[in-house]
Amino acid sequence: GCGICVHKCPFNAITIVNLPEELEEGCVHRYGVNSFVLYRLPVVKDGMVVGILGPNGTGKTTAVKVLSGQIVPNLCGYNDSWDAVIKAFRGNELQNYFEKLKNRQIKPVVKPQYVDLIPKAVKGKVRDLLKRADEEGRFDEVIRELELENVLDRDIKHLSGGELQRVAIAAAILRNAHFYFFDEPSSYLDIKQRLKVARIIRHLADSGKAVLTVEHDLAVLDYLSDVIHVVYGKPGAYGIFSQPKGTRNGINEFLRGYLKDENVRFRPQEIRFTKSSERKSQEGEILVEYPRLVKDYGGFRLEAEPGILYMGEVVSIVGPNGIGKTTFVKMLAGVEKPTEGEVDWELKVSYKPQYIKVDYEGTVYDLLSKINAGKLLNSFYKTELLNPLGVPDLYDKQVNELSGGELQRVAITAALIRDADLYLLDEPSAYLDVEQRLAVSRAIRHLMEKEGKTALVVEHDVLMIDYISDRLMVFEGEPGKHGKALPPTGMREGMNRFLAGVGITFRRDPDTGRPRANKENSVKDREQKEMGEYYYVA
Ligand code: ADP
Ligand code: ADP
Ligand code: MG
Repeated sequence: GCGICVHKCPFNAITIVNLPEELEEGCVHRYGVNSFVLYRLPVVKDGMVVGILGPNGTGKTTAVKVLSGQIVPNLCGYNDSWDAVIKAFRGNELQNYFEKLKNRQIKPVVKPQYVDLIPKAVKGKVRDLLKRADEEGRFDEVIRELELENVLDRDIKHLSGGELQRVAIAAAILRNAHFYFFDEPSSYLDIKQRLKVARIIRHLADSGKAVLTVEHDLAVLDYLSDVIHVVYGKPGAYGIFSQPKGTRNGINEFLRGYLKDENVRFRPQEIRFTKSSERKSQEGEILVEYPRLVKDYGGFRLEAEPGILYMGEVVSIVGPNGIGKTTFVKMLAGVEKPTEGEVDWELKVSYKPQYIKVDYEGTVYDLLSKINAGKLLNSFYKTELLNPLGVPDLYDKQVNELSGGELQRVAITAALIRDADLYLLDEPSAYLDVEQRLAVSRAIRHLMEKEGKTALVVEHDVLMIDYISDRLMVFEGEPGKHGKALPPTGMREGMNRFLAGVGITFRRDPDTGRPRANKENSVKDREQKEMGEYYYVA
């Protein structure tokens, strides 16, 4: 047997009803005596994209290591042979797969999660790297599809996060393999790039390859996958892959916090999206009217039209990478001085930058209690912000030793517990898993509603944008050259303007109200484009 059982609820919210005997059979790998345990594996099927949805630390990467042959799973005993694995999976769809893997008839290719580590491992020009990967003579095609023409002659160490991501995806796609795994392909990409990458990965499956992907942007996962597995359990302790589920139904069950076939509730509350096409928009008192602002960096110029922000509202900022979103937020935060126009207000502003610097010596608790000790004890903040983001578990850790996702949660918390009139959050979802993104979204909404404060949030995750926003601010222009910030508008108007530029339409799921991207050229896609309704339809 497996040595650890799932008798006790790790969270008070969890009830695991179907119990250990069944699970122990599915025990795939245990790292050590008191270490992480993985139960069950995802399916792998030629011609299909299998999506994986679940929190960090529940064994997604471990499963991929097993499926790509990097780990011989010990089956939670003393096994180290593929033959035993094949025997253990007799009758399972994976039996055949493991046989082929053992006989080296399957070649796996992995696009790693942390693309920012690539420059440490690979040196040289992008062109050389990708030429080496090109096993099927598809170089020109893939470069064009991923819009990498302009970076081919650059050194890998000079690429931005979004460029590294696309180079890594290109390097995987160029190889001729049987099994492709994409670990978080949307990180650092804007919405247009995310859906484009999703389409490219889909084509791979359409050409008969087996594809597995972990993705935390639910709109992308939805668009990308044929079936999904939800992974649940206790991060760091154990993880269980659910049965494969239809993508739509699987994501809906995840949002409800309840897996029907497994009879498992893993979150006390469900996440629902407001179906009404517009929220309150412009009901509150005016917080501030900001003037026309220009920032000219020489190579890049941003012009922001004047606009109004209201009290108690959340305004999301959307637009491609390199269009000036961060520049705008920095001007409002007083970090960058506008070239034209002036930000001379009496407002108190709290700012979470896109790139978080860690120069703090001390624990998370020290840091947060210096900012606002009172709010750490406040029960509203505890239930709405601190507990859902798992911040108390981080209190004793050194700030400079936090992982990317931990640091992001601490930075968001630090920004939100400050007393301020205006909260500026630049890309809060980066490095966060789906559950954490939902928790951050709820926290932002509830805090602004309760306190009557205003938040401006730069974001690419469409479900987050939909969940938190009262209004939208759209940035247009030519990335890297010039950008224009339009004034905040209602969601419908803003989304139509934004998505028309991107060329993608969304419908709403009838059960959960969540936005779903329409497949390109589907009946709905064509109808909605004709009507000019890119986002809100009945
Ligand atoms: P995910 O991809 O879902 O974030 P991982 O599969 O990377 O999860 O990790 C699951 C758990 O296994 C984590 O708690 C991690 O610390 C632990 N783990 C990963 N690799 C090892 C290892 N080689 N030895 C011991 N524990 C490990
Ligand atoms: P976004 O947040 O929309 O991705 P940014 O505001 O970060 O865009 O950047 C817009 C453009 O301005 C980019 O081309 C970037 O390289 C450039 N830029 C940003 N900061 C500076 C700076 N301090 N000096 C020169 N150029 C800059
Ligand atoms: Mg930015």
